[in-house]
Amino acid sequence: MPLKPNLRIPGPTPVPPDILKAMARPMVNHRGKPFAEIVRRVAERLKDFFLTKEDVLLLTASGTGGLEAAVVNTLSPGQKVLSVSIGAFGDRFAAIAEKYGADITMLQYEWGQAAQPEDVRKALEHDAEISAVMVTHNETSTGVTNPLEEIAKVVREFDKLLLVDAISSLGAIPLDMDDWGLDCVVTGSQKGWMVPPGLAFAALSERGWKAYEESTMPRFYFDLGRARDSQAKGQTPWTPAVSIFFALDVALEKMGQEGLESILARHARIGKIVRDGVTALGLDLLCRDERYASNTVTAIKSPDGVDVSELRRVLEDEHDVVIAGGQAKLSGRIFRIGHLGLADEEDIQDALDALAAALPKLGFTNAAAR
Ligand SMILES: *Cc1c(COP(=O)(O)O)cnc(C)c1O
Repeated sequence: MPLKPNLRIPGPTPVPPDILKAMARPMVNHRGKPFAEIVRRVAERLKDFFLTKEDVLLLTASGTGGLEAAVVNTLSPGQKVLSVSIGAFGDRFAAIAEKYGADITMLQYEWGQAAQPEDVRKALEHDAEISAVMVTHNETSTGVTNPLEEIAKVVREFDKLLLVDAISSLGAIPLDMDDWGLDCVVTGSQKGWMVPPGLAFAALSERGWKAYEESTMPRFYFDLGRARDSQAKGQTPWTPAVSIFFALDVALEKMGQEGLESILARHARIGKIVRDGVTALGLDLLCRDERYASNTVTAIKSPDGVDVSELRRVLEDEHDVVIAGGQAKLSGRIFRIGHLGLADEEDIQDALDALAAALPKLGFTNAAAR
């Protein structure tokens, strides 16, 4: 049986009962030895998911705080940066850098499309002064996964810095930080990690740390150099979200038992089940190109005459299934099903069944099945 409510939004994702229980543990001294052991253990285990030899730093913040950390620790005001955006989160990443004074060139796509490595090449050829590239690995607002490995190849060829928002991909969709040559990778606890919101994880490559030394952006709370020095002592610079560390410790133990390969395979499997399932119901995917379809979140076009907020209400009130709407310009035009972290075939089938039951009540008939 799926956990109820069946929380099928792309974060926060459901948290298994044993992980929830771990958070009920009494507080500890965040400068003491027992907590230091947890910090060291989770930081070490996270490397196996980032596939990096570098330190993975734990920040008490939501994912956006991690993105801000990426910006203020590697870039400088006035620096020319190429921002590749295929949706709302790509736009947000760019907005942060812009707010801190980076000189942004946007490479934008229609929402629902993936970025093309050749376009990144053209943009870098066109302006040799661009010295860094920002990209979203998995665009949660559109359900599209960018061909990050190929984009990274181009960025490496030009020897630019590459900052990656991997918030809704890491731990669920293949990403190999060291092998692909990514310079800054950021993710958030409430997406693929089966823990509540509250922590962001960030890692810098050797090139990334060199950029850190040269970066002149103002930073204090999110200073990754301070985070690295503290973490070497099993600490964080500031008081961390201690309970989320307790949760993460158990979550990473469970994820280690399942194994990265199995976790990635499970996400690929259930992603396909969602896409096949909604298509069989006669619905249209926002991203029809299977090469770029996200295995953590699926965006579905709202059929003519169906009110998305009404659909979400019926699913929640009558089926205890919670789905997400569209963001920004896709608001009211799509709905989204999250399938990352704690998600298996049963959870997905439950959501698809609820959808099949709810749609006719809203006046939608499956044209494909008629
Ligand atoms: C969720 C998400 C964010 C924002 O994270 P918050 O934890 O809400 O701050 C950024 N980028 C992507 C791709 C996301 O999925």
